[in-house]
Amino acid sequence: MSIENDTAFHKQSVDAFALLGGQPAFSTPLGTSGLARPDVEAFLSYSKRFFDAKQYTNNGPLVRELEKRLAAFHDAEHCVTFCSGFWALVMAIETLKLANKSEIVMPSLTYRRLADVAAWTGLRPRFCDVDPKTLAISPETAREAITDETALIVGVHPIVNCCDAAGLIKLSEETGIPLLIDAVESVYEETEHGRVGSMAPIEVFSLHASKLINGAEGGYITTSNSDLRDKLRLIRGFGFQGQDNVVVGGGTNAKLNEIHAALALANLDSLEQFVAHNQNIYRTYEKELEVLPGMKLLAFDERFKTSYKNIVVELTEDWPLSRDRTIEFLNSENVLARPYYSPALHQKPMRYPHFPASLKTTEKLCSKFILMPSGFMVNPNQIRNLISLLRSLFDAADQISEYQERAHQ
Ligand SMILES: *Cc1c(COP(=O)(O)O)cnc(C)c1O
Repeated sequence: MSIENDTAFHKQSVDAFALLGGQPAFSTPLGTSGLARPDVEAFLSYSKRFFDAKQYTNNGPLVRELEKRLAAFHDAEHCVTFCSGFWALVMAIETLKLANKSEIVMPSLTYRRLADVAAWTGLRPRFCDVDPKTLAISPETAREAITDETALIVGVHPIVNCCDAAGLIKLSEETGIPLLIDAVESVYEETEHGRVGSMAPIEVFSLHASKLINGAEGGYITTSNSDLRDKLRLIRGFGFQGQDNVVVGGGTNAKLNEIHAALALANLDSLEQFVAHNQNIYRTYEKELEVLPGMKLLAFDERFKTSYKNIVVELTEDWPLSRDRTIEFLNSENVLARPYYSPALHQKPMRYPHFPASLKTTEKLCSKFILMPSGFMVNPNQIRNLISLLRSLFDAADQISEYQERAHQ
């Protein structure tokens, strides 16, 4: 049991840290997942609709309403929902890729499962570097990875702010190589070129419980192209048109069901409250980190609409411990901070065919960032206590290394 008083957070001696034998600072874990909770009555009232209609899946009333609402939310013409963001990505790549080409360009400093997505499509990833300013794929880094065999480029928005989607669209138009944007982490964002979800031929989103719009599981794409919409609707439902009339091959069952649509709709109703909560958390980090040396908050671009959802900090030269050691300390205190997209995809052993790469910026950056607790598992008071804990870790760093040297003798 830990006692959540001031000394629990501002550790007075080295052996007060949980990693070195002390009590964890927090009695309940501080996580990085969104886990947004809607008003339960709203969820039940949406649920009653499919229940009364006795339609549980197969393009039911709530899925259709959700698609309409999401299309409007993104300023997009069409939206097609799926059972997950993962399968939305696979289906979208299948629909967009150039035939008879074998490679897919994607960043390496990104979502862990993106290489698995590529494997399901049979395309071989050529990982590209990132722009140090955005931590994201850019038109320049994507261009370096293009070959005669490129079937598709996957642009991915980073965890804080957006990649240069407009620049990637231009590159795609110029080269004739199709572009897909994984926009999962930027669902709420606006850019100087418009709303995320309204720009690329296909942009992909997730409704997973950890994301801003929580449908427990689920995903969707937005597009302005009705042919792409129709193709994707077909392949998510076995390739059937009407009863047992298979009109396309490569179909699968990747439909969203009504229960998940009910949860997503209820959460969509509360979205502004969630963003206000996130902003409050972000402001707390902003204020408290200002006076902590060695840790720099990645700032949201507040010229445009942003969800303030993910909190990422960069360790600078003043921070006395390595990134991984810092995370070890935090995890043992029940602070579930995580390395930001690290190791990068090209640094991990991979069973699938891919091209080895050497990516200078990615390799330099991927050991510097930490994803900090945020979302509905934390409140501002806990964030203040967390920064107090980090302050004592900073203050104790010298003693910690002495202590450990002694322990090793
Ligand atoms: C979570 C995530 C996905 C996958 O979404 P799921 O619905 O969990 O399958 C894809 N891309 C990014 C960037 C993600 O963060």
